Formats: sequence, structure tokens, C-alpha cells
Amino acid sequence: MEPNSPHDLLLQITDSLGWYLESLKESGVAGLPRAEMMGHGDAGTRGQSDSSSTASSRRPVAASSPPSASRPQPPVPPVVSQTGDLFLSPALQAVQTLEELRAEIGDCRRCKLCQGRTQIVFGTGNPRAELVFVGEAPGRDEDLKGEPFVGRAGQLLTEIITKGMKLRREDVYIANVVKCRPPENRNPEPDEIAACEPFLVKQLELIKPRIIVALGTFAAQTLLKIKTPISRLRGVWHTYHGIKVMPTLHPAYLLRNPNDKRLVWQDIQAVLRELEGR
Ligand code: SF4
Repeated sequence: MEPNSPHDLLLQITDSLGWYLESLKESGVAGLPRAEMMGHGDAGTRGQSDSSSTASSRRPVAASSPPSASRPQPPVPPVVSQTGDLFLSPALQAVQTLEELRAEIGDCRRCKLCQGRTQIVFGTGNPRAELVFVGEAPGRDEDLKGEPFVGRAGQLLTEIITKGMKLRREDVYIANVVKCRPPENRNPEPDEIAACEPFLVKQLELIKPRIIVALGTFAAQTLLKIKTPISRLRGVWHTYHGIKVMPTLHPAYLLRNPNDKRLVWQDIQAVLRELEGR
């Protein structure tokens, strides 16, 4: 039907435009200014990938964005984690040295990661280290060599230790949350972490470091018993059984996002200040 007047025409256009905008919202089309301004979307799950740069690339344009929408989320308050030795078996509790612990682990088949591994990657370094780095899981190079952090990400960690901190790899201790390589380098699963975590707990109990650097989401979340993404945990001191914990980004993430090396350098400088008692 033809509109009778300019007023009718205007009403019809307004109705159509309103319906169109409603249908867009209901169909979940991304990028509506209102959704961005309210902070909706999948920013929470993206945080899992340590990605402050990803968050910034998804910012709404400045004209439609309130100042708070483009600010990074503040870090979480310090976490004090006390879990651990309660679930150690009597055999593990009796262990007195790292050598005894390795012997106790034996040809471990406590989780399904045993099926695809070449060998168990126990850990390496100074058994009385003041500083321990904890990563996620062995990759292909580590699985073949039997030593943690020896691939490309490991080379970057070695540079952080030797060039950035002026230490030797032998001065620190390096271990992972799970000791066997997950197939295709997938993330460790909760049952695998639960099966292997007592070994890490015992390692840390025996070494008694002053500082733990948790490399990436899995290490930080396992030690601190928290589900917060590493992007919000990093840069803040937390505590694990009285040991200071500095979560930072995983070297493998830095290989893909070299611009975030500056964030790790900030965290490492905080670790150096703490080590030097400054
Ligand atoms: S990942 Fe840990 S618990 Fe699982 S088989 Fe390897 S050593 Fe055992």
C-alpha cells in the first residue's frame, strides 16, 4: 500500500529500521556498538590465550566507546594457595631427595599421557635453587631429549635466564606441571594434571625455592588453584605454601606474540628485585 503522506512515509521507515535493528541483535551479529559498550562478547574466553594484544584489536572505535571499554582489566588480588601435600601418598611423603622422587615415579602409568610419550620429563637444574620455573608440559623436543624447555620456547626461556637475569640454567630449576608429552601438544586435561600434580608438589617441597615463576595459564592455575587467565594473574605476586609466585606469559606464547615480551620483562625484573632483596 502506498503511504498517504510524508508523515506516513516517515513512520513506515522508522518502523522498518527498528525491526531491522532488533533482528540484527537477536541474530547475534557481532559488532553492534551497544554490545561493545556493555562489554559483552567473548573477551572472557579470549583471556585464556594470554592475549592483551588480541583484546586491544577487538576494541570498539573510539567514537562509540566509553573510556572504560578500552582499559585492560585490573589484575586479580594476590592469591595464597595452601593445597598440595594433603593428597600426597605415604610413599611420596616419605621421599627425601629428588633422586628418590624420580625413582618413586618410575615408569609411571598413572594417567593416559603415558601412552604417547617417549620418556618422562622429570625436571632439571639445581636441586637447591632459589628460583624455579614451572611450565605446562613437555613438547616434542623435550619428549625426545628428556629435558624440559629445550625447543624454541626453551631457547627463549634460556635467553631470559642467561641474558635477562644474568644467571645460568644450572642455577635455577625447571619443571612442568605434567611430566609426559600430551599428544599433538594439546593442553593437559584435568585428570592428567590431577594425576601428575603430586610430583610437582613434592619437587617444590624438596627444592624449597624462594621464588616460583609460573609460565603460562596451566602452571599458574595449577599452583594457585584459580581459574583466572594468566593475562590477569601475571605481574602480581601470589603465594604457594609460603613461596612467592610470579605468574608470567609462557615463552611459546611470546614466540607468537613478540610484542608482549615487554610484559614478561616487567615480571622478570620484579623477580630479580625480589631475589636481590631490593
Ligand atoms: S603425566 Fe605424570 S601422572 Fe601421567 S603418566 Fe606421566 S608421569 Fe605419570
